[in-house]
Order: sequence, then C-alpha cells, then structure tokens
Amino acid sequence: PLGGRWNFDHDNRKKYKGTPPVPPALSFARDVSALLAEITAAGVSGFGQIDATAFPWPANRDEALAQLAYFCQHLLSHFGEYQDALHSEQAFLFHSRLSFALNLKLISPAEVINAAVAQFQQQPAQISLAQIEGFVRQILGWREYVRGVYWKAMPEYSQLNQLDNHHPLPQMFWTGHTRMRCLHLALTQSLRHAYAHHIQRLMVIGNFALLSQRHPDAVDAWYLGVYIDAIEWVELPNTRGMSQYADGGLLASKPYVSSGSYINKMSNYCAGCAYQVKARTGDDACPFNSLYWRFLDDKKAHFAGNPRMAMMLKLLADLPADELAAIRARAGEIMADPDRF
Ligand SMILES: Cc1cc2nc3c(=O)[nH]c(=O)nc-3n(C[C@H](O)[C@H](O)[C@H](O)COP(=O)(O)OP(=O)(O)OC[C@H]3O[C@@H](n4cnc5c(N)ncnc54)[C@H](O)[C@@H]3O)c2cc1C
Ligand code: SF4
Repeated sequence: PLGGRWNFDHDNRKKYKGTPPVPPALSFARDVSALLAEITAAGVSGFGQIDATAFPWPANRDEALAQLAYFCQHLLSHFGEYQDALHSEQAFLFHSRLSFALNLKLISPAEVINAAVAQFQQQPAQISLAQIEGFVRQILGWREYVRGVYWKAMPEYSQLNQLDNHHPLPQMFWTGHTRMRCLHLALTQSLRHAYAHHIQRLMVIGNFALLSQRHPDAVDAWYLGVYIDAIEWVELPNTRGMSQYADGGLLASKPYVSSGSYINKMSNYCAGCAYQVKARTGDDACPFNSLYWRFLDDKKAHFAGNPRMAMMLKLLADLPADELAAIRARAGEIMADPDRF
C-alpha cells in the first residue's frame, strides 16, 4: 500500500485544543418555512429545534458538489488527525458533512473518494497520507462495510438483542437536560443540528446507551429519528451493531464502550463537568465510570471467550469486592433513573 501501511489510525487520534482554526461550516441557508408549515399542519409530530429560514444542508446536485469542493479545499488537510476529537465549541470540526448528500444519492461515494484523492495528489505538502487514508477509510471501509452487513443480515438483524438489554431511553434524549456535560453537549447538538460526528454518536451517546443497558429497539428508533443522514440501511448496522453490540459481534469484534477516561482523553468536555472524571464512586463520580464496570460485570459471561476483552475482564476480576459492590450500587441508581444525573 501507499506509505507502506494499510491503516494510519494511530496518527488520527489527536485531541483538538483550539488550533488550527476550524473554517466556518458551509451553509446553503434555504428557507423551508413553507414546507415546515405543511408538515406541522398535517399533524406530524417531531422533536428538536429547526431554524426553518436557514436549512443548511445541500439539497440538490450543485450544492452537493459545492459541499464536496469545500471539504477538499478547506477541511481535508486536518480531517484525519482530528477525526476522533470532541470539542465543546466545535460541532463539526473538520468533518465533511457529506453523509446527507451521499445517502440521498445526490453524489456518489466514488465521486467523493476520487475528488479527495485528487486533492491529496495536487497538494502533497498540505495533505498528508494520514488525512486522506482516514477519509477514504470512512467511505470505502465503513460505509460500504455497513451496507454489506445490512443486505446480508436483514431482516433478522433488526430483531437482535444479544446482550439482553431492556431499559427505555431516558427523557434527556429528547431534551438534552443532564449534568453529564459530554452527553448534554452531544444531545443538544444532535437536537439542534440533526448532526453529531461519529465519535459523539459512538463514544458519548451510544456508549451511554449501551453502558446503561437500554433496549436496542429504542436506541435504533432514536438514531433513525434524530439525524439528517439517517436512512435505515446505514443507521441500523451502526446503531444496533457497532454501537450497541446487539448482534453479538457480527459487525465489530468487541463492544465500543469506555469509562470517562476515553472521553476525557479526546475532548475538553470533562474540564467543565459537574462530575469528577477520575472518581468511580461517590456522589460526584463520573457516571460513565461506575456504569462501565457494572456493564462488564453484568455481561462478563458473554465476553468470557473474547480475546479482545481479556484485559478488561482481568482488571474487573482484580477489583476489590467492596469497591465493586459500591460501583454496582451507584451504577444501579443511574440505570434506574438516568435523568436524575
Ligand atoms: C451509532 C451510529 C449511528 C450512525 N448513523 C448513521 C446514519 O444514520 N447515517 C449515516 O450516514 N451515518 C451514520 N453513522 C456514521 C457516521 O457517524 C456518519 O456517517 C458521519 O458522522 C456523518 O458525518 P460526516 O458526513 O461529516 O462524516 P465524515 O466524518 O466526514 O466521514 C465521511 C463519510 O464517511 C462515511 N462514514 C463514516 N463513518 C461511517 C459509518 N460508520 N458508517 C457509514 N458511513 C460512514 C459517511 O458517508 C460520511 O459522510 C453512524 C455512526 C454511529 C456510531
Ligand atoms: S466527567 Fe464523565 S460525565 Fe462529565 S463530561 Fe467527562 S465523561 Fe462526561
């Protein structure tokens, strides 16, 4: 492969600390007030907020091409390195915001990849291999992969609940009201922009849903309702498979779960949070921490044969019994009523 490696993921895990500046998001600012009035008059209920005078997404082929050109010229040069970063002031960072145009077939995946690769070839000094590899992998790797999973595994896939999770979603998913700053930011952004990037969807919202053991049907329905790019073939394998591990590992080889430490490593969220990211027990302990250990403890039989989970299960086994009991008790309170937190 070009550069001698198949994957540059290790170069693509930088925390964003305010520089380089993020170019303003391209907006098409279309007035959709009449359409919104028609939908409202038809009695269709919805949630979230919309500025109907300035719908920002590309809605025709020319706009989709303009969005692609803007990404290639202004955002691609930092896409890879910050693709996993989370930042309280930056909803979009260097992400392309092309998923809506792609899923509506205003533009094709091959077109997007070819344009990005051409930009990389024209500007090798500005766009490193790690940036373009990270971007191509999202489309050629992830998007095509989840498409294959959907067509191979449906319709049974939509019924899977291998981890046997049953809690409903808490109200905060419709209001954004919670003292957990990471969740508050990711949820309010989703409700306002119908957009969150993949780490917000996976490692903040999805992580919380899985750790607190929500029913995958409820999680699927929420993701399908909230995001501008949500079309079932691409939403469902991401949500039920990658994020909720409800397929028992068909799509991903281990569950994407983490304690607060991963969120702290990749974001500036924890610094301003009401909770202490390093604490596992006590009233001000980060809820992700107790939920994480309780999740592993509850599901350890399921993960026993998984080599990628072996280290985590060993750490779990080494926890003193009284500490584990305290962790379980606090996690139980959070699971029963997340909106109190
Ligand atoms: C729980 C969960 C639910 C998701 N639901 C959807 C969904 O309903 N629709 C959707 O298009 N994407 C979904 N994704 C994938 C990803 O989050 C979005 O494609 C991405 O955030 C869209 O923003 P962007 O165009 O700025 O992406 P960028 O970060 O700029 O990535 C470029 C493109 O790569 C593709 N891509 C990246 N990751 C994935 C992926 N995991 N699966 C498929 N395509 C990917 C998208 O087409 C995207 O436009 C989901 C991810 C998770 C973890
Ligand atoms: S401390 Fe915990 S709840 Fe607060 S932002 Fe960090 S990870 Fe989220």
